[in-house]
Amino acid sequence: MQSLWNEHEAADYEGDLGLRVYSSRLLGRDKSLVMHGGGNTSVKLEETNLFGELEKILYVKGSGWDLETIEAAGFAPVRLAHLQRLAGLDALPDPQMVNEMATHLLRAGAPAPSVETILHACLPFKYVDHTHADAVLAVSDTDNGEQRIRDIYGDSVVIIPYLMPGFDLAQYCAREFPRQAGPQTMGMVLLQHGIFSFGDTARASYERMIDLVSRAEAYLAAHIPPMAAHTPVGAPPRFDTRAQAELRRSISRAAGAPMIVKTCSNARTHAFARHPDLAAMCAQGPITPDHVIRTKRLPMLGLDVDAYVRDYRAYFERYEPLSKERKTMLDPAPRVVVDPGFGMSVAGRTARDAAVVEELYEHTIDVMLRAQALGAYKALPARDIFELEYWDLEQAKLRRAGTPPAFSGEVALVTGTASGIGQACVATLLARGAAVVALDVNPLVRTAHARPDYLGLVCDVTDEAHIQAALHRAVSTYGGIDMLVLNAGIFSANRKLSELPSDEWRRVMSVNLDGNLFLMRACHPYLKLALHGGRVVVIGSKNVPAPGPGAAAYSASKAALTQLARVAALEWGADGIRVNTLHPNAVFDTALWTDAVLQQRASHYGMSVAEYKTNNVLKAEVTSRDVAELAAEMCGPLFAKTTGAQLPVDGGNDRVI
Ligand code: ZN
Repeated sequence: MQSLWNEHEAADYEGDLGLRVYSSRLLGRDKSLVMHGGGNTSVKLEETNLFGELEKILYVKGSGWDLETIEAAGFAPVRLAHLQRLAGLDALPDPQMVNEMATHLLRAGAPAPSVETILHACLPFKYVDHTHADAVLAVSDTDNGEQRIRDIYGDSVVIIPYLMPGFDLAQYCAREFPRQAGPQTMGMVLLQHGIFSFGDTARASYERMIDLVSRAEAYLAAHIPPMAAHTPVGAPPRFDTRAQAELRRSISRAAGAPMIVKTCSNARTHAFARHPDLAAMCAQGPITPDHVIRTKRLPMLGLDVDAYVRDYRAYFERYEPLSKERKTMLDPAPRVVVDPGFGMSVAGRTARDAAVVEELYEHTIDVMLRAQALGAYKALPARDIFELEYWDLEQAKLRRAGTPPAFSGEVALVTGTASGIGQACVATLLARGAAVVALDVNPLVRTAHARPDYLGLVCDVTDEAHIQAALHRAVSTYGGIDMLVLNAGIFSANRKLSELPSDEWRRVMSVNLDGNLFLMRACHPYLKLALHGGRVVVIGSKNVPAPGPGAAAYSASKAALTQLARVAALEWGADGIRVNTLHPNAVFDTALWTDAVLQQRASHYGMSVAEYKTNNVLKAEVTSRDVAELAAEMCGPLFAKTTGAQLPVDGGNDRVI
């Protein structure tokens, strides 16, 4: 492991706190050291208060900040003397500890100080760095971890046995550190948890971390053969989209809410899933306390969610004999599924959560395999895992206090998303918390959004093989499809029926009608499994109730599509799937309507562009966003009892009314 310190870069950061920011970011850059808000750092500074007195302040990483992207504002300034006094108390319940830290901050609006704040305060060094380095965990999370750590570091680190993070750990370290520390001490290892380094400068503390972790890496390299020797190469993962969608439904039911389930099938996860010691390793639980909340206690082995939930309830009752309050907190849904057939899947309340679990578990696999190869993987005690799982709840509840977005954990598939109504549907569904699979023939669909809850795929909806490939990607990425917005369509040239070429007629029918049949048919098995019931919204047209001359192919295709939707509403009602149709008109902010075309059409009717745009009963301009909002609403609870409906969104059209 190399130091990433660069004097040139460091020069951009001002003062001691600035360098704290810089070296924290260096730690954050290396995912084998810290991930997703894990790890924490601090610096102790002397500052003059309003009365001219010198005060010592601990700047410690605040919760909600990631080391990789932290800024000065991400450090919470806490009065050091108070923290040090707290460490001397006989006992301090964790909620009270959190309160003491929050009430001794120097800046209103500062983030909540890390739960490891008192520990940082007790270490008598200006800079303190703390990580959950994979290599250190791979050594310490073994049956003989303490001895191995001693062999590696000798007297250069203080060794602390595993203790619950929070006050007890801080208090123990405050007492134990001075007893063990000597002139050689440059760090501290918390067994089954992680490692600290410290120094008088940001650089010294950071580079000691790199040095200490490198020593663990060297030890691992010397004591275990290369990884390949420990990972059996199995048959390639077998991915069954139906089975995944059913798995997602079972997990969502266990969670009591829709969940995103992402399949992470690759040679590595597949080999892990077929490891002869898999069950023994997984039974030990997470590699560090920091992961418990997100990966949960244990992965699920195999695909029997009911059995997992039964085990989980039994485990819950063992530690918490069904107190009413905690019972309501119980969340028995697995977050990690390991199966010899396909490798691994991860679950989360959002696509972002699932992506975090995936990354955490990739490192977990690495640590488990190395620890197992060294001796036997051994993690924190089961009782502590339980405590940790419910420990953070006060904060977690606060975080969740705001109602989650309406479509959290749900998956929507939208067609024709490169512009106009489809593009607006993607935006509104994302804003409402859904993960969105966007299909378009335009390759720009791939890069329209860069976020874990967006999957843009190039797809020609008239090609069944394209549709199958797209659904395969969609289900492996999010686990299923709950909502389908059929928007893709083409409008052929304005042409009289007597002059309409057959191939043009067929092309319009093929995109506007056949493609939608293919999609509906292919999505039906997934829509059926949606926890809140499947929903289909068809983007029809005003031309259905009020056709215009010169648009035979378009009008006929949309009318047939509307009829198809009505039949689907009848046939799929028993599966809990609702199918409703929107008939927009005069939506001009689409790719079809360039300024020139608008100008030309307006003057054709002797109107200004503004008059032409609002030429309806309400004199209102109808935008893509208006249509998209209504489409999203039709997928929501307001339309829970409505299916087979056709709704105009056209500002009122006298021919339709
Ligand atoms: Zn920690």
